[in-house]
Amino acid sequence: MKLLKKLFIDCETSALYCDKAQYNEATSMEKFQLKLHIVICKICRSHSIKNTKLTKACNKANLAKMPETDKAALKSKLEKEIGN
Ligand SMILES: [Zn+2]
Repeated sequence: MKLLKKLFIDCETSALYCDKAQYNEATSMEKFQLKLHIVICKICRSHSIKNTKLTKACNKANLAKMPETDKAALKSKLEKEIGN
């Protein structure tokens, strides 16, 4: 039962994993849990489809992506500012 509880995620978690998956940040376990949830949940399925379409559109538009190093620098700067 514990394993089943772990496998079946709620809609909130599903939305989070869906976003993570779009940015290639989801683990294979998270992707699996997301796919499983999408099979049983109509609402999240349509959310996922919309999200995939959006990602495809963004990729097509060839939007500039912030380099990881810049992102890390910005993040630490923000954390410093919030901390003060
Ligand atoms: Zn759902």
